[in-house]
Amino acid sequence: MDLIALAVPLFLLALFIEIFIDWRRGTGFYRSNDAINSLSAGIMSTTFGYFTKFLSLVFWGYVFANFALLDMQTSWFDWSPSGLAMWILAALAWDLCYYWQHRCYHEYSILWAGHAVHHQSEDYNLSTALRQSSTSFLFSWIFYVPLFVIGFPLEVLLTVGAINLIYQFWVHTQVVRRMGVLDRILVTPSNHRVHHAQNERYIDKNYGGMLILWDRLFGSFEPERDDDPVVFGVRKPLTNWNPFWANLQVYDYLLFDALHTRSWRDKIGIWFSRTGWRPADVEAQYPKQKAELSCFTKFDPPATRGRRYYVLAQFSVAVITALIIANMFARGGAMSVLVPCLLLWAQLYTLGLLSEGRSYAPTLEYARLSVIVPSGFLMLQTSSAGMQLSQASWVFLFIYILASALWLRKSS
Ligand SMILES: [Zn+2]
Ligand SMILES: [Zn+2]
Repeated sequence: MDLIALAVPLFLLALFIEIFIDWRRGTGFYRSNDAINSLSAGIMSTTFGYFTKFLSLVFWGYVFANFALLDMQTSWFDWSPSGLAMWILAALAWDLCYYWQHRCYHEYSILWAGHAVHHQSEDYNLSTALRQSSTSFLFSWIFYVPLFVIGFPLEVLLTVGAINLIYQFWVHTQVVRRMGVLDRILVTPSNHRVHHAQNERYIDKNYGGMLILWDRLFGSFEPERDDDPVVFGVRKPLTNWNPFWANLQVYDYLLFDALHTRSWRDKIGIWFSRTGWRPADVEAQYPKQKAELSCFTKFDPPATRGRRYYVLAQFSVAVITALIIANMFARGGAMSVLVPCLLLWAQLYTLGLLSEGRSYAPTLEYARLSVIVPSGFLMLQTSSAGMQLSQASWVFLFIYILASALWLRKSS
């Protein structure tokens, strides 16, 4: 049972409720361009995961089969008191590993390059929770290897891992302020707001997933203060709405420094250094100014109302497409969704450009619309499962493309 897939409708419902509350109260927690960029990163991460997630399962399976110290039975994890105690033990063990994974993700350059995308939003709302990395699959599995060496069964760990991830969704909100004693025990919205801050006091604090007790234990806890309101985002802002670039930006910074330093030791070392460290010769030749926080303004390029509505409508289509792809993946596996994923990624890319107001964005959007039908034919031709598309679906597709092109022309 895929708990995360089951939670998706609840995520969307909670998101709509929070948008409604924000609209009614006029709190300004949401901007459509920032939220769409966050959700685009989330869709990218999920769909990219169809082609990469199996890697961690392969590694974990290998470790479990060859190095497990204890022969824990799945039947130990039942609804009896001892079974529940085992579940709690597994959940605590996962949360502890998550704490160290998350801490290392912030403290080491190559890991931060993968995790930064989660922190680039300059707003803080439930869409930020879904703003996930497409590249963190490369290293995240390593931090949970000790649990497989102990011998926890894979099904149990996948379940507590999913619960841990689902728990973290609701803490990405400004609607809930303080929660009294719970703020001292659990990761709560207040605690996690601190984690998403770029204020000097709050940087590299509150790494916990479910329990904030780990931060209190390992010295990384910082409470939210009224006299130092949180400024959300990262110190080197993304300043565009490109979900691909969101995933690659920090890798690019590191690559630049690695290519330009004369020291071979630093060319390698920079990837594994503490986050923010730069080779001395590169720092001297290409200094980077730290932005003054008091002058901080959110990235918010102007766009006409027509353009905003167009992007919003097309993004709704992208969400529906992502749900259809999830269904196709569940039935046909990764290769059955390759072409639809490529089309979806192209759509998210062009929507980012349209939101930025790039002059060439409409041309790319027309190009995207024009390749949908040929891509559909290609997919059906190469489908090994004899996939068919009904006549009504083709008619619907043509109407969608035509209506989109006309609307785009009007909104440009
Ligand atoms: Zn983080
Ligand atoms: Zn977060």
